[in-house]
Amino acid sequence: DLPIVVIAGRPNVGKSTLFNRLVGRRQALVADTPGVTRDRKEAECTVRGRRIRLIDTAGLEESAPDTLYGRMRASSESAVAQADLVVFCIDARAGITPADEHFAAWIRRQGRPVLLVANKAEGRQGAAAAMEAFALGLGTPLAISAEHGEGLSELMGEIADRM
Ligand code: GDP
Ligand code: MG
Repeated sequence: DLPIVVIAGRPNVGKSTLFNRLVGRRQALVADTPGVTRDRKEAECTVRGRRIRLIDTAGLEESAPDTLYGRMRASSESAVAQADLVVFCIDARAGITPADEHFAAWIRRQGRPVLLVANKAEGRQGAAAAMEAFALGLGTPLAISAEHGEGLSELMGEIADRM
């Protein structure tokens, strides 16, 4: 079976945008409204010559337990349990939020390998803003911009190295 890479993080950090970038087709629904991507999206793709199964977790699910954290967990826990690598995303422009901290603590408890990605880190302030994510205790944040295509080559190298 192919190695499984799961993109996780709170709603609206850019998970689906990153999924689309890595897959190379507009397969996942991307929207401004948090929670629009309800279903788990999966695709097989090639990253630096390695075939992987990439999973884009939903930020919110209507049918799941009715707290924010409950919904995030419900949509992500089965995917994370199977993951060979979790790409945990935060929004560098928003900074670290309580939801990020809560979700990161849960991710750490799952004991899966994690790659920390600070998305929306385009432009001059991007890298500095991304460093705030060190505080999550998930290692060195990798600054990227899924929308503007910055840092993706480095990210693909990091993913391939961990497969
Ligand atoms: P998800 O809920 O985590 O799947 O987030 P989406 O991929 O749906 O993106 C949420 C919003 O963030 C959309 O308006 C995207 O266009 C925007 N977005 C995604 N990546 C970036 C980025 O690298 N920079 C900026 N500025 N916006 C982004
Ligand atoms: Mg999404």
